[in-house]
Amino acid sequence: MDDLAKREELSRMIRESDNIVFFGGAGVSTESGIPDFRSQDGLYNQKYKYPPETIISHSFYVRYPEEFFRFYRDRMLYPDAQPNAAHLALAELERQGKLKAVVTQNIDGLHQKAGSKNVFELHGSVLRNYCERCHKFYSLEDIAGMDLVPRCTACGGRIKPDVVLYEESLNQDVIEGAVRAISRADMLIIGGTSLVVYPAAGFIDYYRGHKLVLINKDATGRDGIADLVIHDKIGEVLSAVVKKES
Ligand code: ZN
Repeated sequence: MDDLAKREELSRMIRESDNIVFFGGAGVSTESGIPDFRSQDGLYNQKYKYPPETIISHSFYVRYPEEFFRFYRDRMLYPDAQPNAAHLALAELERQGKLKAVVTQNIDGLHQKAGSKNVFELHGSVLRNYCERCHKFYSLEDIAGMDLVPRCTACGGRIKPDVVLYEESLNQDVIEGAVRAISRADMLIIGGTSLVVYPAAGFIDYYRGHKLVLINKDATGRDGIADLVIHDKIGEVLSAVVKKES
C-alpha cells in the first residue's frame, strides 16, 4: 500500500468507528518542540553528571533535590509549548463523538490545551504540583517563580511535581481508566511511541478489536501485529484525515 492508500484506509477506519482510543508517546509532542529526554543522552553528558533516568528517579529526587530540579526545570518544563496538529486533530475527533479517550505517556498537558477532555496521563503532569507536607496545590506558573527547589508558601514543605518518577508506581485509577477505555475501544490508534518503554507495550495488549493502527516515524516492535502501519509524522497524518466539522 502506498502512502495515499494508507491514509485513505485510515480515513475509512475512522469513519466506521465510534469508540476510538488514542495511545500516544513522546513523538506526539516533539512536533511542539518538546524533545524526548530519553533519546538525547549524548547532550546531557556534557552538562549533567548522571543520565536522565537516574536524575528522574525517586531516590535521586529525595537525595539530590537541587540537581533534580536543575534538570527538571531545564529539560522537562516547556511552558510556552503549544498543541500541534496531532493534539488538535484528536481533540476534534473527541468533539465529533468518535474518540472516547486519549492515553498518553507525556506530561506536558498539551492534549487538554488542545481541547481534549478525557485524557489518561500515565506519567502525570507538570501542570500539577503539590506540597509534600500539607498537599497544597501549585500550578506550573507558581513554581516557575520560586527558588530552584520550590517550597510551600503555607508550611515550607518541599513541592513535588505530580509526575511519576522512575521507581514510583503509576496511579492506580489512571491505569484502570486507561485499561477500561482500551479494552472497550473499537479502534486503537497508537502514535509517537516505539512501544519499547514500559508500560506502553503492556497496555495495548488489552485491545481486542481489529482496527489497530500504528503511526510512528520509525518502525516499532509491534508493526507486525498492527492492521495498519504508517511511518510518517503523526501530526501530518492525523490532520490530513481528520476534517473539522462546523
Ligand atoms: Zn505545605
